[in-house]
Amino acid sequence: MATQLNMEKYASLILKTGVNLQSGQGLIINAPIEAVSFVRLVVEKAYDLGAKNVHIEWNDGELTYLKMQHAPMRVLETFPQWKADGLLDMVKDGYSLLTIYGPDPDLLQGIDTDRITAVNKASAQALTTYREYVMNDRVTWSVVGYPTKDWAQKVFPDLPAEQAQEALWDQIFKIVRVDQDDPEQAWQRHNKQLENAREYLNKKQYRQLIYKAEGTELVIDLPKGHIWHGGSGPSEKGVAFNANIPTEEVFTMPHKYGVNGTVTSTKPLSYGGNIIDKFKLTFKDGAVVDFTAEQGEESLKHLLETDQGGAKRLGEVALVPHQSSISQSGLIFYNTLFDENASCHLALGKAYPNTIENGSSMSEEELDQHGVNNSLIHEDFMIGSSTMDIDGVTADGKKEAIFRNGNWTMDFENLN
Ligand code: ZN
Ligand code: ZN
Repeated sequence: MATQLNMEKYASLILKTGVNLQSGQGLIINAPIEAVSFVRLVVEKAYDLGAKNVHIEWNDGELTYLKMQHAPMRVLETFPQWKADGLLDMVKDGYSLLTIYGPDPDLLQGIDTDRITAVNKASAQALTTYREYVMNDRVTWSVVGYPTKDWAQKVFPDLPAEQAQEALWDQIFKIVRVDQDDPEQAWQRHNKQLENAREYLNKKQYRQLIYKAEGTELVIDLPKGHIWHGGSGPSEKGVAFNANIPTEEVFTMPHKYGVNGTVTSTKPLSYGGNIIDKFKLTFKDGAVVDFTAEQGEESLKHLLETDQGGAKRLGEVALVPHQSSISQSGLIFYNTLFDENASCHLALGKAYPNTIENGSSMSEEELDQHGVNNSLIHEDFMIGSSTMDIDGVTADGKKEAIFRNGNWTMDFENLN
């Protein structure tokens, strides 16, 4: 039940375990207008924790739709400089960034994909430096879910809006451990488990991952010096935070020129207000050379063509057991924050520079030489299933089982 108590526990969790807001710090919140009462609760708690200022960036699906429908292309192609400057000023001043996220997965159905791409591209370009603060963990940041009614009805199409929203609240509370007595302690245990998994893989330094599942035969090279991340990580200033709530993944970067074979998606991808489903990508030397999709092929084409080639290559490889609490719900969320944490996934586009040694201080050329992908996009898509097997290839060419039938071959819960 979306009780006041659970709301309060959730608000505390995202401020402490999520962005780990420090006294005297500022906070930017991105949120849908529909979430206003929850946002007020978060803001109150932020000030209780000593925030010096909370700045809210509101969004509203209906207003976005109207603009996408009516504004001339020249407006959609530009992003206001004052807004980019204002956001950049705040992260330069050490503000944390909290994104409260629950978009309608079908919001922009029927809108010309050229118009959607123009808007996404303009904001990605204008916010490049701002996004670098986030992607390099120069500030703490967190993305968390909020069950808007439109999203909830997509997940529970047979329920009326209010009940669907209640049902999605229940799921979210369970998935993010707010239904437990002490969610923050539960997260410490969970973060420890993810730390065990990432340290195991960091020691192994596999040079390749080999994926086999229905519709998937893929070999991914991992660059030398790659680093696995997962769970809680330190910001540049050493503050531990969780970038996603929920999170069940450990992830690193693939080599941008070393991906070969075919991979089939296992969950729909909600991209820019449209759904891309049942798609297949074929890679050669790191780039997508062929693709098909049963739904949203046009959106997929635009996604891959967003920039001069970076959008066709991978920037993230993530391992998530099929038995994670989110997959056990049996639901499709049509929301990447939830679906990616129920499934092994990959991301098209930019790699996180901190997933390779010294990545945050390399020049653009050095990043390319080390196989680090750059792009205007970073878009996760789900490939995991109960039939997925993954092997790691060691430096001396030995194959070791990492995943069998969708789950880890190691027990990280009982490792110390
Ligand atoms: Zn991921
Ligand atoms: Zn990602």
